Amino acid sequence: MVIKYSAIRKIFILSSFIILSALSQPVLAQQVKKKHHHKKTSEDGTALPAFSFKTIIIDPGHGGKDPGAHGAYSKEKNVTLAIAKKLRNALNEQMPSINTVMTRTTDEFIELHRRDDIASEHKGNLFISIHCNSSPEKVSPDRGVLILVYGYHRAGEQFEALRENASIFIEKDYKSKYNGYGENSAVNTIVLSNFQQKYRKECIHFGDLVNHEFKKVDGRRSLGVREQGVLVLQQSAMPAVLIETGYINNPKDEAYLNSVEGQSEIVQSIIRAIKKYRESFEQK
Ligand SMILES: [Zn+2]
Repeated sequence: MVIKYSAIRKIFILSSFIILSALSQPVLAQQVKKKHHHKKTSEDGTALPAFSFKTIIIDPGHGGKDPGAHGAYSKEKNVTLAIAKKLRNALNEQMPSINTVMTRTTDEFIELHRRDDIASEHKGNLFISIHCNSSPEKVSPDRGVLILVYGYHRAGEQFEALRENASIFIEKDYKSKYNGYGENSAVNTIVLSNFQQKYRKECIHFGDLVNHEFKKVDGRRSLGVREQGVLVLQQSAMPAVLIETGYINNPKDEAYLNSVEGQSEIVQSIIRAIKKYRESFEQK
């Protein structure tokens, strides 16, 4: 019996090995192909670096029938659009080699998954979603910034993500579009998309850079960079962050978020972070 079993085991191991090596062949071929595909050449024939930082997707949160959070006199959807437009204009002026793509430029409702589609269609290198934070109280005692990246998270520790994700409840068929979101929170807390596993480090890196500028240069309070299950970042095929630019239901923050000075400080901080982020790639 013992001999028989070990013989079967040997055959099994040998056949697994053959199957595995057969399977690994096309994978290797694909990897080599990919490498060649990325090796671009310039007009004069010299090789360009594999990574070129060309396109930034700017995503103003909410819009249309989805107003987002609100303060005493302003709505999140209007603040995010104003900041996003200023960011686009300033980027076009200060970094003219970068293409900018907005997911919306008017007060319209864009479904969260559609925002990712727009980003992918334009082959973005970085996805920046602009939002405002809000606390459950009528007037928030909290103020300051928070940067969200998509990552490992636990139910009960992701208040902001749940609030931002609530946009999908006014979409049609949201359960089928977002893998049954809201039905099984255990599944939603663990699954990381392939994209976001791949880009997790880069997201945190860019998030840290933005956070540093807000804190050190603008003197803003900050809740730091957090990983949460933010749907709009979940499927984006590029590094992606969601910036909560301030608490819209805190009187001081609301005034700042609606002011020309506040908006341009936020925009300039994001641009300085983008420049540092791009430099860190060019040094690689
Ligand atoms: Zn929001």
